[in-house]
Amino acid sequence: MKFGGSSVATGEKIRHVAKLIADNRSDDCGVVAVVSALEGVTNQLIQAAEEAKKGNREHIGKFKQELLERHLTTVKEAIKDKQLEDDAEQVVKARITELEQVLTGIVYVGELTPKSRDTVISFGERLSAPIVSGALKDLGISSQHLTGGEAGIVTDNNFGEAGLLMNFTKFQLTKNIEPLLKKGAVPVVTGFIAATQDGETTTLGRGGSDYTATIVGAALEADEVWIWTDVDGLMTADPKIVPEAKTIPEISFQEATELTIFGAKAMHPRALEPARKEGIPVRIRNVFSPDNPGTLIVQDGQTKTKDGVKAVTLVRNVAVITISGAGMVGAPGTAAKVFEVLGKENINILMISQSVSEADISLVIQRSLLERAVSTLEIALLGRDFIREIMSEDDVCVVAVLGAGMKGMPGVASRIFSSVAQKGINVLMIAQGSSELNVSFVVKEKDGAETVRAIHKEFKLSTK
Ligand code: ASP
Ligand code: MG
Repeated sequence: MKFGGSSVATGEKIRHVAKLIADNRSDDCGVVAVVSALEGVTNQLIQAAEEAKKGNREHIGKFKQELLERHLTTVKEAIKDKQLEDDAEQVVKARITELEQVLTGIVYVGELTPKSRDTVISFGERLSAPIVSGALKDLGISSQHLTGGEAGIVTDNNFGEAGLLMNFTKFQLTKNIEPLLKKGAVPVVTGFIAATQDGETTTLGRGGSDYTATIVGAALEADEVWIWTDVDGLMTADPKIVPEAKTIPEISFQEATELTIFGAKAMHPRALEPARKEGIPVRIRNVFSPDNPGTLIVQDGQTKTKDGVKAVTLVRNVAVITISGAGMVGAPGTAAKVFEVLGKENINILMISQSVSEADISLVIQRSLLERAVSTLEIALLGRDFIREIMSEDDVCVVAVLGAGMKGMPGVASRIFSSVAQKGINVLMIAQGSSELNVSFVVKEKDGAETVRAIHKEFKLSTK
């Protein structure tokens, strides 16, 4: 079971988390908990690291004090037993002293390396795990807290976005965690952080706690991985846009990955990989409404619901670039050139479309990169005789309609586009991969929300 930052934001919430664990474990069903830092702490640590690099001692002193107070308050709220409270307090104090030393070191050196940055940001989880573990003991449940490294998660030394060494990890996790489970204890593992083979602290990338949970689940061959969060699972649409949006009861890994890419839940891009590989179902559940079964993510092709369309999402803050010129027709290498130029500039392309006439290529990229993308393309391409024009529009958004069941189902595209047309909304660009897992198209930004609502209604997603 993984608990995100908002689920462990305060001592009271941590008590709630401990109760959820207690209610769901039994003698023949052990639980491993994976926890994030208290809400907001990772961001504060990143800021503190930056301030340390600039030599801002004052900020560090103030930050240390605030961090200490917040965690000590949390300990008090979360743990009632005096001895257990003291124990957790000692760990918190010792770790914050260590953090202060690391930050002071950065001030002296005046340099923040990816390695020292990882050490700093690992402290959020290193502070939350002992508190959750203490709260469990407070409920009479035997428990032990471990860092990702202590638990046995091993990565390469690509600090900041470390790559998992799964075979070694599986061996070590089994060796370290299984004996605890056998004793009836609940291991509380820090999410997000791991270690190299030499024991240096690494992190798995932002939002990495979900990934930790599926790594642990896969290594221990768990029955299920539960991601406890603050929403009722994956939704048919953003409820802020479509008030009648519903939780999707069951979805495949493939679909869920697409959904998370499109921002239905901010998840680590590799978060589902280990579970998918091992065929372990992942359940996304709401800590604040534990009676709701949430969304179950199952193997591809195993979903019981055979609906064509499962969800419709809106991707904002994007822009379209269209490169045109009759000279591109039948000129091999044009697309390659466009992609090469953007790739070299580290500009990620979200969506591509080119018609068979080859007279233009349209691309969707993140809006913040638009200026850089256009000037790079102009420098590289204009003046060549085959490119006539590079145009861009930044007041647009992408609507993505998802569902594995759309594959081979005629009429889905026509229903999508007629429902949009009925609203008098113009479609600027369309892409559908031959996987038929999603249809993505671009409309003006002002039409985005209405487009999502029209499609949600057309496919009756609120009644599924
Ligand atoms: N605390 C880390 C972050 O904020 C990891 C996580 O919460 O998943 O990115
Ligand atoms: Mg988080």
